[in-house]
Amino acid sequence: MSKFNVLITGSSGMVGQSLQLYVKRYNLHHKNTIDSSPNYYFLTREDCDLTNKAKLREIFKKLKVTFVVHLAAKVGGLYMNMKHNVEMFMENMKINMNVIELCHEFNVNRGVFCLSSCIFPPEPKSFPMKEEYICDSPPHPSNEGYAYSKRMLYIMCKHYNQQYGRDYICVSPVNLYGAYDNFDINNSHVIPGIIHKMYLTKYQEGEYKKDTYEVLGTGKAQRQFLFAMDFACIIFKILWNKDIDKKNMLINICSDKEYTIKQVVQLIAFNLDYDIHNIVYNNKYSDGCIKKTVSNKLFRKFFPDHKFIPLEDGLDATISWFEKNYNKPRFRK
Ligand code: GDP
Repeated sequence: MSKFNVLITGSSGMVGQSLQLYVKRYNLHHKNTIDSSPNYYFLTREDCDLTNKAKLREIFKKLKVTFVVHLAAKVGGLYMNMKHNVEMFMENMKINMNVIELCHEFNVNRGVFCLSSCIFPPEPKSFPMKEEYICDSPPHPSNEGYAYSKRMLYIMCKHYNQQYGRDYICVSPVNLYGAYDNFDINNSHVIPGIIHKMYLTKYQEGEYKKDTYEVLGTGKAQRQFLFAMDFACIIFKILWNKDIDKKNMLINICSDKEYTIKQVVQLIAFNLDYDIHNIVYNNKYSDGCIKKTVSNKLFRKFFPDHKFIPLEDGLDATISWFEKNYNKPRFRK
């Protein structure tokens, strides 16, 4: 019987679903240096509200948790963050404190905790941003609530590592996208938001019956993107790699590629067969941070051969999934 019980929070989200798929498809062949057949427990919002510490404590106790992958968070795209800084800060702080305090209480020595590249300073001393720049100066004002709650998660992990010898590793992915994303028209991130709205524009439904597709912002902002299945695979590689410990407790996860929003819009348009001449840019909307390139030098030190899924292929898979699932009841739109 396996000694290792891995609790994964946020399992109904995009990354959680990708991890579940990854375990189903590859776990039998996934070699790790610690345990050949660990037990994975995928915790969803329905199983436990993570702001409820007493309920979460029961789960830690019952499952005899040994490792944690903490993905759960209140998240949203730029425009959701701008409107809801209070909720983004408070809810994420509560969730993160509960999870990390219970990890300590149940002597969980190792865990992977998910941050995001959007919490880095908008005006760093240089690009690409190294991991150690994370708290150099304030985050972008548009997402202060979310960013500070995630920075605090990093600080909590750092101090549990220093004071109690834990190996709580923070991973900081760039803009994630993929199947099971939140495709909400108003509160999603850029890729799912554009896919959904351009799809509606093309097929002319309801209020989206228009002759043009309007991009929010100038399209000049630059972003790095990471396909959720890629991230799932990397999370497992990090979780089970004993060489990664408190000495390298924050790792940026990204390829070398960077795109303007305009390039992304065009890739989506090609895929949906939408005429790019009908695309307009509305510069009354904020571009958010104009550039936030992070460095993957540390990631490459541990995983020099990892091949990232190209954006074109990831978008293809995401759009196929979107089209197939659009009318299903549990689809998030
Ligand atoms: P961010 O990377 O944390 O800023 O979050 P997003 O994934 O929401 O990306 C925001 C960038 O995409 C900004 O430069 C927006 O101007 C641009 N953008 C263009 N169209 C959309 C859209 O429909 N939704 C969102 N969320 N962003 C859009």
